[in-house]
Amino acid sequence: MIEAGATLGQLQRALPLDPLENRILLCHALGLPRTALITQAERALTDEEARHLAGLVQRRLDGEPIAYIVGEREFFGLPFRVDPAVLIPRPDTELIVELAIERLPQRARLLDMGTGSGAIAVAVAHTRPDAEVTALDLSEAALAAAQANAAANGARVRFLHSDWYGAVAGETFELIASNPPYIAAGDRHLGEGDLRFEPVGALTDHADGLSALRIIVAGAPAHLAPGGWLLLEHGYDQAEAVRELLAARGFIDVQSWRDLAGIERVSGGRLAA
Ligand code: GLN
Repeated sequence: MIEAGATLGQLQRALPLDPLENRILLCHALGLPRTALITQAERALTDEEARHLAGLVQRRLDGEPIAYIVGEREFFGLPFRVDPAVLIPRPDTELIVELAIERLPQRARLLDMGTGSGAIAVAVAHTRPDAEVTALDLSEAALAAAQANAAANGARVRFLHSDWYGAVAGETFELIASNPPYIAAGDRHLGEGDLRFEPVGALTDHADGLSALRIIVAGAPAHLAPGGWLLLEHGYDQAEAVRELLAARGFIDVQSWRDLAGIERVSGGRLAA
């Protein structure tokens, strides 16, 4: 079915993936913009293009995430380069970016802990060029991807190789945000869908799912300016536990916010001023 002579118009209907993924792979394989599917619907595949496209479709059928196959995912309206060293940015994570942007004072310092592809840090820095954004990660490969994403999106971000607060000893920030690994060891989701291909260290703490969240909450008071906010993304069933961690450390205005699916996805609080 994917053979030389097949036209873009025919292939859009005939490829075995869902319609959006068919279009994404077709354009990626041929190096064409999305509009070509309409303006060049009669364009026919060459032999080589057919072989290349068939290979990509097979990878997708074998379960590989489409974002890794094409090497890109849009997040917060910006293009992010992704590779298997980083978690694929999720639409859910746009919530923590919006909450951070609303709460960050002018010319203030923001810290993104476990930045991965750089999604949170780059989206904030792009939207708020006044902000002094720092992003850290334990993975050098993730930092390379995040750095490329900051450069490609014209975002000014300072990157640090760091095991949680290790490299920011003595520093304070007006806001700390994080989307840490929060899936519990043995959770069946780790063996399903895109997660099978994503870096395990970005997904799970290999424990109860709360251990990274505990470390971040415990260290936050020493690294927040008075009145500063801590915002944490977490799993669908962790909001109450995270609110308890925050309250136990003396945070005020502790609350959770729902994502587009109506699930409590981000919890946070602030230090007393
Ligand atoms: N939101 C991701 C998922 O459940 C997990 C990301 C994370 O652990 N930080 O697919």
